[in-house]
Amino acid sequence: MEADGNTIAETPAGFRCTLCSVSVPNRSSLDQHIKGRKHQTLSSVRDTRKTQEEHSVFVSGIKPEVSPADISEYFQQFGQVCDVIVDKNKGVYAIVQFGETDGVKAALSCVEHRMKGLKLSIKPREKKDFKLIPKKKDVQDVQQVLEHLKPQLCELMSVDEQMRYVVEHCELGEHEKKARGLLVQLLQEVFVEFFPDSQILPFGSSVNSFGIQSCDLDLFLDLEKTKVFQAHAKSTAVPAGEDMSDDGRSEDSILSDIDLTAASPAEILDLVATILRRCVPSVHKVHVVAGARLPVVKFHHSELNLRGDITVNNRLAVRNTHFLQLCSWVEGRLRPLVYTIRHWAKQKQLAGNPTGAGTLLNNYALTLLIVFFLQNCDPPVLFTVAQLKDMACEEEECVIEGWDCTFPSQPIAVPPSRNTQDLCMLLAGFFSFYAKFDFASSVISVREGRTLTIADFLGQNKEEEVMQEARPPMSPHRSPRLGPLNLLDPFELSHNVAGNLNVRSVLGFQRECQEAEKYCRSLQYKRKSAKGRSWGLLCLFTPSGATARTQTEPLTISIPFKEDSLPASLHNQLHAMGDGFQLLWFQKVCSAVERVLQRVLGCRLTPSTDGVFGKSSAVDPDEDAETVALDTSGNDSREMAEPQNHAVGTKRPPPPSGDASASPQGKRPRVAKRGKPKNPHWACVQKHTVWAGRRKVRRELIKDADSRPEGSCVELESQVTAHIVEKETEIKEPLEFKVEPKMVGGTESSMAELKLVPTNDKTGVFQDFFHFLQVFLPKMVETLLADEG
Ligand code: ATP
Ligand code: MG
Repeated sequence: MEADGNTIAETPAGFRCTLCSVSVPNRSSLDQHIKGRKHQTLSSVRDTRKTQEEHSVFVSGIKPEVSPADISEYFQQFGQVCDVIVDKNKGVYAIVQFGETDGVKAALSCVEHRMKGLKLSIKPREKKDFKLIPKKKDVQDVQQVLEHLKPQLCELMSVDEQMRYVVEHCELGEHEKKARGLLVQLLQEVFVEFFPDSQILPFGSSVNSFGIQSCDLDLFLDLEKTKVFQAHAKSTAVPAGEDMSDDGRSEDSILSDIDLTAASPAEILDLVATILRRCVPSVHKVHVVAGARLPVVKFHHSELNLRGDITVNNRLAVRNTHFLQLCSWVEGRLRPLVYTIRHWAKQKQLAGNPTGAGTLLNNYALTLLIVFFLQNCDPPVLFTVAQLKDMACEEEECVIEGWDCTFPSQPIAVPPSRNTQDLCMLLAGFFSFYAKFDFASSVISVREGRTLTIADFLGQNKEEEVMQEARPPMSPHRSPRLGPLNLLDPFELSHNVAGNLNVRSVLGFQRECQEAEKYCRSLQYKRKSAKGRSWGLLCLFTPSGATARTQTEPLTISIPFKEDSLPASLHNQLHAMGDGFQLLWFQKVCSAVERVLQRVLGCRLTPSTDGVFGKSSAVDPDEDAETVALDTSGNDSREMAEPQNHAVGTKRPPPPSGDASASPQGKRPRVAKRGKPKNPHWACVQKHTVWAGRRKVRRELIKDADSRPEGSCVELESQVTAHIVEKETEIKEPLEFKVEPKMVGGTESSMAELKLVPTNDKTGVFQDFFHFLQVFLPKMVETLLADEG
C-alpha cells in the first residue's frame, strides 16, 4: 500500500503491517489498524526520522574538545543548523541537521572542510529502515524456557507432572526474590527520606505466588502516615529557619512543597518520578502514566533488568494480592493451574497486557477466572470470598475505601477442600467450563462464587446506591463498566476487572477454550505418547496461528433455549404446546432475529419463503422428513394444525409453577403443518459498519442515565444504529449474506442455530460483523422474548 510508505504487505492470510509487526485478516481491520494509535505514532516517528535523515550530514574527524556550538557555528555557512548531535562516548563524530535539504547539498558539495585546525570529512547520513524493536524480552524469556523444556515435558509420565514441572521452571527463583526484596528495601530507604513514615509495599506477581522470571515489580507507595505526619507538622508550625520537625526528622522541601491530602495522584507521582530519577542508582526510563485508571510511575532498574510500577492509591491491590496468596497457600493445585493457564493464554494471544490497556485479559483477570472456576467445581476446590469472610476472626476485619476485604490471614483457618480431582481433570474442567459459559448475559461474582444475570446485578446495584445515599460515602462506588465479559473484583465490587475486553477478545477466549476442551477429551492429552510425540500440555502450548481455524468453517450462531429467562406468559404458552413447545419457541426466536436484523441493525431483509420458517428439532434440514412450518408474521390467516409430537427426543419443558393450561388466549398457539420441506432463510443486505464503535455511541447516548449493557434495550440499540448510519459513510460494496435458521438439540439442550453465509463480501468485513452478531443477536433475542411478557 503506497499510501502508507510501503509498510503494508498483502499476505495469503490478509495483510501485514511491517512497521508495527502486526497481521490482520482483512481490509477493514487493516483500516482500523492504520487509524489506530500505535500505527499513527510509529508512522509519525518514522516520518520524523526520515526527515531528520534527509536534512542531516555525518561529520567525522572532530576531537572531543570541540563543542556542539563550534560545530554549529561552522556549518551555519551552508544553511540554518537546527541540531548537532555529538557521539557522547568518544566525541569523534557528529550529526549535523539542517533546516532545509539545501544546507545538506551545500555542505556535501564543498570539497574541503577545515575547522579549528581539524580536517573534517562529511558524508550523507546513512538511511536506515525504521523498525519497531519489540520490547518483549521478558516474555521471550519464559517462552524460551518452556520451548527449551519441551523434550523434558514430553518425557514426564502424567499431565500432573507436566504442570508441576512448568511451575518449577518458570517460578521466581530465590535469587530473583531476594533481588526484588533488596530493591524494595532500597526504595523504602530513599522514599522515607522524602515522605516520612511512608511505606513501599510490593503486590502483584512478585509476591502473589504466581510470579514468573522477570515479571514486573508492582509497588504501592503508602502515604497515609505521611499525611498524618504532614498535618501534625503543619499544626505545630516549625519556626522559620529551622529545618527539623518536632520529632527530630529532617523535613525535606518536597513535603513542604505539596499538600498530600489535596494533591492528585498524578501530582504526587511527578514527585516520585523526580526522586527515582535523582536518588535511586541504576534506575532509568522513569515516566509517569497519568491517564491510566490508576496513575502510575514506570521505571527500569538496569542492574537487575527489572521493570517496576509505583502507584500511590492502590491499597486494594495489596489486599487482593494477599487474597490470591491465601488461596494458593490453602489450595496446592492453584499454582500449577495458574502457571499452566497463564502460559496457554499467552501462547494463544488471549492474555498478557500487563497494563490492563488493550483488549486482552490481564493476568489478574485471568487468575480470577481460574479462582471462579475452582469455586464452581463439584465439590468446590476453593471457598467463595463471602465464605472466607465468615472464617475470619474479629481482628482480621478489614475495610478499604468502603469495601469489605475481610478474610483469614492464616491458611490454617480454612478447611481443606473435599474435591480430590487431579490437575489433569481440573485443567480440562476449566476449558470445558468456559467453553460453554454464557458471558453475554452473566456477571461473574468471585465474592459470591456464582454468576448473576445482568438484570439482577443492575437491580442489586440500584439498591446498593440507595443505601449508599443514606450513609457517608467512603468512596464513589460507581456502577461497573459492563461489557462482553463481566468479572467483578472480589472486593471492589463496582469494578469490572475485564472491562477492557471487547467482543472479539471474549469470543477468541471462548473459542480457544472450546478448542482446548476438544483436545482434552482426546487420549493425546491424557496419555504419554509411546513414540515420543507431543502429548499432554505440549499441544496446548502451541502458539495460536499454528492451529488457526480455516475460513471455510460454517459460521453459525447459537441461541440456546433458556427457560429461566422467559417471561411467565410465554412460559405458559410454551407449556400449553406440550411436545411442540420447541417449535413455538423457535418461531418466536425467528421473529425476534428478524426484528433485530431489520429494525435494530437496519439490514434490508428479504425472506425467501414469505416469512415462513420450519424444521423441527433434531431434524436435519436436508433430511426428507415431515416438516412443520411456523408462521413468524403473526398473521392468523392460515390454517393451523394441532401441536405435533414430531421431534425426535423432544419432551415438554418442565411445568411452570402456575396452571399449565393457562395460556393467555386460552388456546394453544398455532402451528402450521406443511407437506413440503422448505429451506427457510433471509437474504440480508447491510450497508453500514453498524458493529463498529457501538459501545462509544451507546455511552454518549446514555451519558448520565443508568449504564445499560449492550443488547439490554431494543430502543437504545436502534438509536445506536441510527447514529452510526448517520455519521458513517456507507460501505463501498454493501455486505450481502444469507441467514438460515434451524432448530437443533433435544429438550434439555434445545437451541436455534443460525447459519450465516456471506454472498457478497468484497470489502472483507463479514468476519467482523459475524463476530459482533455472535454475541449481540442472542442477547437481543433474549431481551425481545423477555419484553413479550
Ligand atoms: P504479571 O505482572 O506477571 O502480568 P500479576 O499477577 O502481577 O501478573 P497484573 O495483571 O500485573 O498481575 O496485576 C497486578 C496487580 O494489579 C493485581 O494483583 C491487582 O491487584 C492489580 N490489578 C491488575 N489488573 C487489575 C484490574 N483490571 N483491576 C483491578 N486491579 C488490577
Ligand atoms: Mg504485575
